[in-house]
Amino acid sequence: MVDLLKKFEPLMARYEAMLEAGSDAIGLVNEKILSPTRGLINGKETILAGTNNYMGVTFDKACIAAGKKALDEFGTGTTGSRIANGTYGLHKELEAELAAFLDLEHCIVFSTGYAANLGMIAGVAGPKDTIYLDADSHSSIYDGCTLSGARLVRFRHNDADDLAKRLARSKDSEGGKLVVLEGIYSMMGDRAPMADFVEVKKQYGFQLMMDEAHSFGVLGPNGRGLADEAGLYEHADFVVGTFSKSVGAIGGFGAGNHPYFEAIRHHSRPYMFTASPSPASVATALEAIKLLAREPERRDRLQENSTRLFNGFKALGLEMGCDEVSPIIAVRCPDEPTTIAMWNALLDAGVYVNIALPPGTPNKICLLRCSVSTAHSNDEIDRITELFGQVVAAGHGVAKAG
Ligand code: PMP
Repeated sequence: MVDLLKKFEPLMARYEAMLEAGSDAIGLVNEKILSPTRGLINGKETILAGTNNYMGVTFDKACIAAGKKALDEFGTGTTGSRIANGTYGLHKELEAELAAFLDLEHCIVFSTGYAANLGMIAGVAGPKDTIYLDADSHSSIYDGCTLSGARLVRFRHNDADDLAKRLARSKDSEGGKLVVLEGIYSMMGDRAPMADFVEVKKQYGFQLMMDEAHSFGVLGPNGRGLADEAGLYEHADFVVGTFSKSVGAIGGFGAGNHPYFEAIRHHSRPYMFTASPSPASVATALEAIKLLAREPERRDRLQENSTRLFNGFKALGLEMGCDEVSPIIAVRCPDEPTTIAMWNALLDAGVYVNIALPPGTPNKICLLRCSVSTAHSNDEIDRITELFGQVVAAGHGVAKAG
């Protein structure tokens, strides 16, 4: 008999080495969450700087009240898929609110952001079509391609010329062409150069899907994401997003203006064959989106906080994921043991950040990834910077900018 799990021997050895070096960086337990920026970890109050809680809405009183009311009125779970018993008035209300926020005709709510990418990509593209993916795309985008059965063509990260070359090569191919971009890339924090891609779109013709997971509620004059910030919103044929970041809940969505958009509900397996998001999640998401619309100043504050941390790290001489300011600020580290040692030193000193290691990162780089919240105080941002400075000064060899 071949032991199916034997192949995990090297993986388990790697994990053991991580545990020997300190805390469990990929299985950390938050004993208590005290606020959007504070938690209790290993019995110690810790600044949270790796939560994706960009808009700091998780403890908003109105969101919590809406969730509690939904629990009272609709119960703990929907116990069914959207196409069976799992669509409540709340799901429809949320879809209408999102469509209005996005200024798009149609919106479909999915159970997670992961399901939204799978459901939208495999909902619109099929075996006769071709999907062009940025090489650094999120796993949910890759998995959506696999599920669709479409031909997959990868182009170099953020390289519109490379996409153009590949489109030119398959000019006469049958079927539709879908290009998927992310507003802000989740590891390095860089944005897609959307204007360049729109030029290629005008030349070659394709349908464009924007995954605004990290930019919905965060970027643009209307908080709709990168396409909104870039002034190119009308060029995004489909917008995908998640409730697990700026919305502070769980769930995801796909939206667009196509007259046949609603057909996706009848064709998308991740929409049809999983339970719909719970009443409490949907109600808190609904309240949070109203809040994002009502309080655009949260976005300004997030930008200020992000700039403050970015400049603080720059002053320390740290090498970051990219040169532009976004709420994702990643510090490049030389190798895995150093990254793990630094992560532990930061946690012991009182700040939690994400550890990001290959194969989850582009080009096999090791990162300490911070995500900034509008709810961070200046003191918290300065403390995060100070602790990174102390950890580097203590001899951990973080890459310095040249
Ligand atoms: N797209 C991107 C770019 C993401 O970073 C993520 C989550 N990290 C998702 C989609 C999936 O979102 P969710 O966590 O809601 O499943």
